[in-house]
Amino acid sequence: MDYLKNYINGNYCDAASGTWIDNYNPSDGSVYAQIPDSSKKDVANAYTAAQDAFPEWSNTTIETRSEILLKIADLIHENLAVLAQAEAKDNGKPLSLAKSVDIPRASANFRFFGNAITQYASQAHQSVGLNTMNYTLRQPIGVVGCISPWNLPLYLFTWKIAPALAAGNCVVAKPSEVTPMTAYMLGDICTKAGLPPGVLNIVHGTGPSTGQAIVAHPNIKAISFTGGTQTGAHIARTAAPMFKKLSLELGGKNPNLIFADCDYEKMLSVTVKSSFANQGQICLCGSRIYVEETIFEKFKKDFVAKVAALKVGNPFDTDTNIGALVSKSHMEKVQSYIEIAKQENGTILYGGKPVNVAGSEKGYYLQPTVIEIQDNQCRVNQEEIFGPVVTLMSFKTETEALKLANDVKYGLSATLWTSNIDRTMRLSNDIQAGIVWVNTWLNRDLRTPFGGVKQSGVGREGGFEALNFFTEAKNVCISYQGNI
Ligand code: NDP
Repeated sequence: MDYLKNYINGNYCDAASGTWIDNYNPSDGSVYAQIPDSSKKDVANAYTAAQDAFPEWSNTTIETRSEILLKIADLIHENLAVLAQAEAKDNGKPLSLAKSVDIPRASANFRFFGNAITQYASQAHQSVGLNTMNYTLRQPIGVVGCISPWNLPLYLFTWKIAPALAAGNCVVAKPSEVTPMTAYMLGDICTKAGLPPGVLNIVHGTGPSTGQAIVAHPNIKAISFTGGTQTGAHIARTAAPMFKKLSLELGGKNPNLIFADCDYEKMLSVTVKSSFANQGQICLCGSRIYVEETIFEKFKKDFVAKVAALKVGNPFDTDTNIGALVSKSHMEKVQSYIEIAKQENGTILYGGKPVNVAGSEKGYYLQPTVIEIQDNQCRVNQEEIFGPVVTLMSFKTETEALKLANDVKYGLSATLWTSNIDRTMRLSNDIQAGIVWVNTWLNRDLRTPFGGVKQSGVGREGGFEALNFFTEAKNVCISYQGNI
């Protein structure tokens, strides 16, 4: 049994409570580790360490900060195999995915922000008639909080921590209690890379206890949060009286609009991925599929055939396409939506049942599930299921497709499949989403802004947007005499 520890002031330590939380391996349902059940006291200790480290870190040269971040990126890369094993075991995702996406992206996050900070320039504005010169400093905020979910554990944890550190802040961070392992391993990597003690502090525990303590801490001045919409709303309410800066990356129920004029074969194979990658547990999965009526029957047949060919299996088997769902309670939640679909007269075209994986009988495996619906307003089509479940519906016109796509409380991303450039321009403009992909999906350039509208969140991460979030802008206006 592994006993994880908090990483505070550069040291691994137990929680003040001395109590532990079980950590499950979703591929076989066993408890394989214990994590510290941290409380307000541990968060206070983490804050003190961060606050003490802040004067030196915020005054460390950009070149040194950059070098340390790039070293962390290198070490993540060097430890890819062991980190990917840990991620797959903790989360249930296929090892192949952890190796090819999650861990490389965690390394890329540190590399990107380690480089970006060297290019993050202040602006200056000369007002000629007024004889003033303005320049805008981007100053680190101080101690900031980073809270991340379980679906892409190290990928999203580092997506927040890397820009926060690059900008000169010190961090108190909490990974999901469901997937703490790679965040735990990151502490050691940061020490080896020369990150000074206290600059990054990682506290494990539950959302309502540890997470809440970070958000409610009066001197943690900004919170970058990725997770569910309800939790985001709770965080916003807690933080509002303290006027904290908030970046909230929340849930999604993303439309995938497929027009008859698209590149059909490419669309078909990418749509299988955008539906079921990571067991459908990616906030950007296209969980509502709308298909133009003229190709709807063909699409249904071809899509179901491809989905039926996906192998649900142990994350460590090399031919597994769909691994285990992250936890028993999550599996039950996803299954409950399949029952709701039946009550709502949805037609299960494929899937809907648990899968018994030989040798891993107690794991949380579910078939990829395709549901044909008649009513855009039905719950399975409106609420975020966050599992391997997609809905299918046909449309007749572009106007109808747009209406269906926007008729939801979320607005994270949307995918369009069409070869018509005018349609592309119209729909990209009118779709209510922070991110639109056209004839592709999940293609990410880290320089671009990332985030949602409506109940999918507030604020943008990515590129200089993230550095803007993790800094305060201070304008200095100097009056001068005569010409300069
Ligand atoms: P949750 O909102 O349950 O949890 C997210 C994080 O917040 C976890 O670390 C959790 O801790 C913590 N937390 C829970 N309650 C509180 C609280 N009261 N105060 C502070 N922190 C708290 O989300 P999930 O982990 O279930 O993740 C799935 C959700 O994340 C989905 O809705 C998905 O769409 C969204 N998501 C959004 C993304 C985006 O970029 N927009 C990307 C990825 C996911 P613990 O787990 O220990 O309880």
